[in-house]
Amino acid sequence: MLSLSLPRNHDRPLTVLCLGAHPDDIEIGCGGTLLRLLAEHPDAIVRWIVFSGSEGRRVEAKNSAQSFFGGHAGDYQFFDFRDGYFPFYGAVIKDVFEGLKGTVDPSLIFSHWVKDAHQDHRVIAELTHCTFRNHLIFQYEIPKYDGDLGNPNVFVPLSREQMTRKVNFILENFPSQATRQWFDEATFRALARLRGIGCNASEGLAEAFYSTKLVI
Ligand SMILES: [Zn+2]
Repeated sequence: MLSLSLPRNHDRPLTVLCLGAHPDDIEIGCGGTLLRLLAEHPDAIVRWIVFSGSEGRRVEAKNSAQSFFGGHAGDYQFFDFRDGYFPFYGAVIKDVFEGLKGTVDPSLIFSHWVKDAHQDHRVIAELTHCTFRNHLIFQYEIPKYDGDLGNPNVFVPLSREQMTRKVNFILENFPSQATRQWFDEATFRALARLRGIGCNASEGLAEAFYSTKLVI
C-alpha cells in the first residue's frame, strides 16, 4: 500500500481545525493522529472547537486540549449547546459555522462521521461539509452502545507511545466519564488495534477516518 503524506509547505504552517460535538469526542476520534501530526509538523497550528459541555466538563475539556497541544500553538473554543438536542438548534449552530468561514482556512479538518448514530455528531458532520466545501475533511469515529462502527477508508498508523499518550490524556482529563461502561483503556486500545490490522500498521495500532473527497 502506497502511503501518502501531508505536504510540508514552509510558506504556511499546517493549520488543523478540530470539531467535536461533546467534550472528549475530538480526543477519542483523532487524538492519536493529532499527537502524530504535531510531532511531524512542529509549526502546526490547531484550532479546537467543542459545541457542548457543562461548566465542569468544559474545565476537563480545556485541560485535555492543553495536554494534546503540548507546547504547540493552538486555541480552543467551547459552546454550551444542550447535549442531545443539536438537531433542534440547527440555525444557531449553523450561525457558528458561518462565523468560522471568515476566520479559518484550515489545511485539514477533523470532524464527526456523517453516518454517526448520534444526532449531535451528525449535525456537526453535516455542517462541517456544508461550510468547508473546498477543504480536506477527515471524519472520525466514536465507539458507542449504538454499534455504528463502519469501514473507514483513511488510516493513520500510530506508535505505541502515541497511543499510550492518547489513552492517558483521555483517562486523566475526563474523570467525570469514568463510570460510563465503555469509557476505558480497553475500548480505545481495541479500536486502535482493529484499525491497525486494517492498514498493516508497523506497531499494530492506528486511527481511521472517512473521507469523501481527496485530491492528489
Ligand atoms: Zn459525542
